[in-house]
Amino acid sequence: MSLTRRAFARNLLATPVAAGGLALTASPSQAAGLSAPVPHAAVKIGRFTVHMLTDGHVDLPYGFFTGQSPEDTAAQATAAHVTRPGDTLRLGFTQYLIDDGARLVLVDTGPAGGIGEHTGKLPGALASLGVAPDDIDAVILTHTHFDHISGAIAGGRAVYGQAEVFVDRRDIAQFTDPGARAAAPDFLQSSFDATADLVRLYPRLQQIQGNQDILPGISTVDLTGHTPGHIGVRIADAGQSMLIVSDMLFHPLLHPERAEVGFVFEQDPAAAQAMRARFFPMAAGDGSLIAATHMPFPGLGRIGRDQGRLTWVNEDWASTL
Ligand SMILES: [Zn+2]
Repeated sequence: MSLTRRAFARNLLATPVAAGGLALTASPSQAAGLSAPVPHAAVKIGRFTVHMLTDGHVDLPYGFFTGQSPEDTAAQATAAHVTRPGDTLRLGFTQYLIDDGARLVLVDTGPAGGIGEHTGKLPGALASLGVAPDDIDAVILTHTHFDHISGAIAGGRAVYGQAEVFVDRRDIAQFTDPGARAAAPDFLQSSFDATADLVRLYPRLQQIQGNQDILPGISTVDLTGHTPGHIGVRIADAGQSMLIVSDMLFHPLLHPERAEVGFVFEQDPAAAQAMRARFFPMAAGDGSLIAATHMPFPGLGRIGRDQGRLTWVNEDWASTL
């Protein structure tokens, strides 16, 4: 069933599911008795509709961003007028729901309440579109860091139990390796735990590697670096395309201008930097429409050049097509 038909049916029935979805995204305005719509953006890529849904956001201290000192990040934030209380940068968690008219493919599943108090909104966002977890036909996980897979295993169960789940085998190898776990810092342990849960709860997990066709018009792209099995998702039809690049860019203050800036979760900082240094100029050269999980909602934009400097250019978006 297409998403449009599902949403139509949901509107006709005004189901309690939708009301439950709104409850999951309670905000101060709702507490005051006002109803806040769930943030939603959509874009057409040929026959595909790509819906952008947020699981929430987190504010992270400058020290989480490696490759330059927190003082450098502070100076850049001050110059750009984006300082926040607590010397933090705000990162979003956008998930991408691809509708090809017959199937629904979800890219990443969010931290699901596991990071700060402002996450866990994806189930409500899906419900607002009339989509239940069992309606998802496939899930592509761009890598097995906690904030991308936790929503698939929330509550100790396979949340997307009807879906075929795709993940790169290099991340499964890394994040189920006892030696790698022993060598990893405390803050990465949750990603090892979550990967173990993923393997246990999804016995039919499809382990792929790098560039692979998933469905007609949907393929994965090797972006190894941020993690060994970090992949993007390419959607292409009728001469249009979009590349979901997950953790290639973290915040417009830092990326794409500073490829040397990484994230404290990266276990091989040199590999992560090398991929950014290769990818950013390439994307600036071909003008690809890209979508990045942690950039400001809906994470949709292009990499441009301004007198030799690489810049992030937001793409226009709308909540209705
Ligand atoms: Zn991430």
